[in-house]
Amino acid sequence: MTASPIHARFDGPIVMLGFGSIGKGTLPLLEKHIAHDAKKFTVIAPDDRDRKLLDERKLKFMHLAITKENYRDVLTPLLKAGPGRGMIVNVSVDTSSVDLMNLCKDLDAFYIDTVVEPWPGLYTDRSRSISERSNYALRESLLEQRRKRPGGITAISCCGANPGMVSWMAKQALLDVANELKIKFTEPKTREEWARLMQLTGVKGIHIAERDTQRSREPKPFGKFVNTWSVEGFVSEGMQPSELGWGTHEKALPPGGFRHETGCDAAIYLTRPGAGTRVRSWTPTAQAQHGFLVTHNESISIADYFTLRENGKAVYRPTCHYAYHPCNDAVLSLHEMAGAAWTPQKTWHILDEHDIVDGIDELGVLLYGHAKNAYWYGSQLSIEETRRIAPYQNATGLQVTSAVLAGIVWMLENPERGITEADEMDFRRCLEIQMPYLGPVIGKYTDWTPLVGRGVLFPEYVDRDDPWQFKNVLVS
Ligand code: NAD
Repeated sequence: MTASPIHARFDGPIVMLGFGSIGKGTLPLLEKHIAHDAKKFTVIAPDDRDRKLLDERKLKFMHLAITKENYRDVLTPLLKAGPGRGMIVNVSVDTSSVDLMNLCKDLDAFYIDTVVEPWPGLYTDRSRSISERSNYALRESLLEQRRKRPGGITAISCCGANPGMVSWMAKQALLDVANELKIKFTEPKTREEWARLMQLTGVKGIHIAERDTQRSREPKPFGKFVNTWSVEGFVSEGMQPSELGWGTHEKALPPGGFRHETGCDAAIYLTRPGAGTRVRSWTPTAQAQHGFLVTHNESISIADYFTLRENGKAVYRPTCHYAYHPCNDAVLSLHEMAGAAWTPQKTWHILDEHDIVDGIDELGVLLYGHAKNAYWYGSQLSIEETRRIAPYQNATGLQVTSAVLAGIVWMLENPERGITEADEMDFRRCLEIQMPYLGPVIGKYTDWTPLVGRGVLFPEYVDRDDPWQFKNVLVS
């Protein structure tokens, strides 16, 4: 593993919920960089596939699912065992982030997760409107919680790679573009100053542009969903409505696009699943590519963070959305699932560091629409480097787990911030902690736009006046 500075010390009990691809990868980073008492570390999960890693370390394992009915009874004694405050590191699926944060607040315990999750059932509950099944609604429930119980012990929401790290990268990328354009500015300190700089730089939108080229040694078997991280997580979010932060430069809502009736109004949803919605985007390795517009919390939180308002009306906001080309096996898996009218495959597999023969996870932000056209800034972490620097995970995992590490360090350095989103954390400090685990982190300008190569063999109805209209980005 990489050099191991101890970034923080935590003497209280730590409870990790979930021990899947992210939990397994987070554990060695915590061991390396957070001084803590292993006797106070507990992992809880309903599957015990990787239990030997915990037994080897003599770590306490509770083989059960956290549910709406049991979470207070199970977690309270663990978090109150002392000394001092406790901490939940939530890297599970199917547990309510907001309820768990609320419990942590009651018990004066720290909390961090990588996604706003509900208790099971919400994503497929047909009695709920499409808007109610969205990530927008989940994020609004978190913001509501913050309004009800402001301040106090820090609880970090959505601190993985994306959501998470990409919010920090968006700020670094913005500074790079502003400098390249020779804009005169002092580094922003407040949310409003960041939004003003984004506006001044002329950014129309941000893609979270990802290409995962990790390849399995074995071809994907028929009838199995294969991915490089949680299949359950990916299928759930892929079946949510497609969602995007909706920029002020956009001329018209896309077909099937709707605004929400309540909340911050930073985003819209489409009446189709993200797993069936493709967008044109660009990463350095792929160059032009089609990615999936899967809903993600950061599409909404970044758009909201960079919104400028005058008299309550949004006068500037960048469009923001995910443009995700997962590993080829996951693309095939989605295709198979779409053909089966979105019935998920009965079996699934997460490719680990031994299954993968080569490839990188290229994950970053593409800031577009400014005077230099578009700028991608992100991590190009390879499986080979991942194997060298951290155990029990692939490149996709390490981008996430190193963000969890950065989040925990920042949380311990800033213990009284209440509920906090990644956009509100110190991007420089977090990236500094993460950097040794991200492989090459590069910035690249491109002259690609979603109009390149369009309408050549067949007529296409595009907006030639503004290449960066979402109309041009969406693959219809
Ligand atoms: P995984 O499917 O590999 O593992 C999920 C784990 O959660 C398993 O150990 C499972 O037993 C456990 N679990 C399931 N139900 C539970 C319950 N009721 N109580 C406690 N544990 C339960 O998933 P993963 O790839 O490790 O992902 C974990 C979480 O991290 C998911 O929510 C996923 O969406 C999220 N994630 C976020 C990012 C990001 O960049 N922000 C990236 C990858 C994954």
